Amino acid sequence: MASIFTKIIEGEIPCHKIAEDHKFIAFLDINPNAKGHTLCVPKDEVDKLFDLGEQDYLQLLQFSRNVAKALERTIPCNRIGLSVIGLEVPHVHVHLIPINDMKDMSFQHKISMDQDEMADLAEDIRKNF
Ligand code: 5GP
Repeated sequence: MASIFTKIIEGEIPCHKIAEDHKFIAFLDINPNAKGHTLCVPKDEVDKLFDLGEQDYLQLLQFSRNVAKALERTIPCNRIGLSVIGLEVPHVHVHLIPINDMKDMSFQHKISMDQDEMADLAEDIRKNF
């Protein structure tokens, strides 16, 4: 069965898109740790990060770096944290999280944003590429 992220990539499920090319997509996390929490996802459905081919792995990091730079230009924060987990969604994704302290990297600490706020934020980030 297709992962929830494949359904997003195929347009079956909506997302607040940040960036896309022929191999990767980035969109806002639906349940963010902090404002601007973004997921960078390869379009090929592979479960685990280190099972990606070497080229896809390096290109995912390059794509994520470009997204992180746009996040830094948009959201005042100390830095962009990066995490790879995958326990909830078995389709590789890099979490990029604008952080100010360690609690922003704790997946127990969540913020709430409504759909309009998410849409406006995604637009602001897209303008900063
Ligand atoms: P992980 O698999 O790394 O533990 O976490 C999966 C992440 O995907 C979570 O942060 C969760 O909020 C996010 N997520 C799960 N389903 C959706 C969805 O349908 N849309 C979006 N934008 N994010 C999702």
